[in-house]
Amino acid sequence: MKIIRNRLLPLGQRHSAINLFGILFVKPGAHISDQLLRHETIHSRQMRELLYVPFYIIYVAEWLWHLARLRGDGYRAYLAISFEREAYLNQNDTEYLKSRRRFAPLRRHDS
Ligand SMILES: [Zn+2]
Repeated sequence: MKIIRNRLLPLGQRHSAINLFGILFVKPGAHISDQLLRHETIHSRQMRELLYVPFYIIYVAEWLWHLARLRGDGYRAYLAISFEREAYLNQNDTEYLKSRRRFAPLRRHDS
């Protein structure tokens, strides 16, 4: 994964890294752990299988839907996004990316 350290992205203080089209933008002093890399690699897989732009459209639509449902709690809305749920659920599993099913976050939880 290509990593670019910079001061601008991600915006704000809550996150230390953001994955844009498979390129990871990281704040200058932030530690890049194996867990973070795995989390972002899961996002890269999600993006690629949805051909990138639809990934962001669905991501933002889900966030807005959860934001309304959770009465404006932006952080909980972020954690509820299906793409984030898959990434957080599996970021500690070193074997996950070897066996991940395509479109995993959009499937019903039947396996
Ligand atoms: Zn994430």
